[in-house]
Amino acid sequence: MTEKHRFRNDMILIAVLLLVAFSSIVCYNCFRSTGNTVTVRVDGTDYGVYPLSVNATKDIYSGENGCNLNRLVIRDGKAYIETATCPDGICVAHKPIFRDGESIICLPNRVVVTISTADHTDTPDVIM
Ligand SMILES: [Zn+2]
Repeated sequence: MTEKHRFRNDMILIAVLLLVAFSSIVCYNCFRSTGNTVTVRVDGTDYGVYPLSVNATKDIYSGENGCNLNRLVIRDGKAYIETATCPDGICVAHKPIFRDGESIICLPNRVVVTISTADHTDTPDVIM
């Protein structure tokens, strides 16, 4: 009888621990943190990494002879494409990005701008 109770208490403890772990993962996702790094990739290759906290304007050249241009602007902790030579202009119309994991993709120019969080913060690693 006592053994049975102990088993039940153990199960409750495990359930509580699982619940705590699960809710912390859920909270981690719903309060997705603001990133601190802007990574630019052109045609799948790293082009540049810039801090999101420093205002800057970066011209991203792509295509043959670098004839395509996307002008990346980092301002007030947000990143957006100010002008681009691509025909569709979707990247220019994209709203500024700043959350971890957000990205602006320019398909015609094969330019991908992604927000991430660099490792130098004191956030503990989450093992998924
Ligand atoms: Zn574009």
